[in-house]
Amino acid sequence: MDLGIKGKKALVCASSKGLGLGCARALAEAGVDLVMNARGAEALETAAAAIRAEFGVEVRTVAADITTETGRAAVLEVAQGVDILVNNAGGPPPGLWSDWEREDFIRALDANMLTPIALIKALVPEMMARGWGRVVNITSQSVKAPIPALGLSNAARTGLTGYVAGTSRQVAGKGVTINNLLPGIHATDRATSLDKGVAEAQGISMEEAHARRCASIPAGRYGTADEFGAACAFLCSQHAGFIVGQNILLDGGGVNATL
Ligand code: NAP
Repeated sequence: MDLGIKGKKALVCASSKGLGLGCARALAEAGVDLVMNARGAEALETAAAAIRAEFGVEVRTVAADITTETGRAAVLEVAQGVDILVNNAGGPPPGLWSDWEREDFIRALDANMLTPIALIKALVPEMMARGWGRVVNITSQSVKAPIPALGLSNAARTGLTGYVAGTSRQVAGKGVTINNLLPGIHATDRATSLDKGVAEAQGISMEEAHARRCASIPAGRYGTADEFGAACAFLCSQHAGFIVGQNILLDGGGVNATL
């Protein structure tokens, strides 16, 4: 399918690895020029070079922490005028509900709620002025079904979801859509580190932790970054202009709910 976005320009945050990289690759495949970001310069440059070589699009990189004001300023200097924004950052650490203090919540809110909101505020006005734009926020299945050990993530991402629900309906009339993609478990470094935590806590091997988690997913496996990226690229396409303020689960059926 021709996504109709060849020649558009996208900022994909936190995109040297994992789901962000999957989104960057799928957009590049559709002919979109990219601004890619991550903290670590080496992996970022490697990922960018591979995309340039494979898809022939223009890729600019900004090595910066997107959750800080200075990091965002550095990214925005290069990304002003983009047509597409994919919001992403690392997830908060796991723990117990009674452990987290105010500062832990502030860090999680900064990373997974206030950073995407700041980028939306910085980039959507120009999209509205041009009459076309797409924003996709990578959140989590924890928005629909809370994950006990990820209370910081449950809280911050639900806050972003509420903001998007209201905001998306205020900008849709100017041709700009904002939607959320909710990953269930995907085979990335993040999933490996969560599996490691489970293996250590339960005294089992990594293979056993992986097998047990697969058994809890109706699809019987982890998702892939390529599948995730393809869904993101579709939401950024010309065909998705009537999809507004939605929360789309990509979880292999993991969340057991009718709606
Ligand atoms: P990942 O494989 O660990 O990749 C994270 C990417 O983000 C890396 O490129 C990393 O590069 C970059 N990054 C992390 N923190 C950053 C920051 N502060 N500023 C800029 N770049 C940053 O993670 P993932 O699995 O793709 O997960 C992406 C998001 O989806 C996370 O928020 C995660 O919690 C959420 N999620 C993932 C799953 C899953 O199963 N994978 C499920 C539900 C939700 P640097 O480290 O070099 O910065």
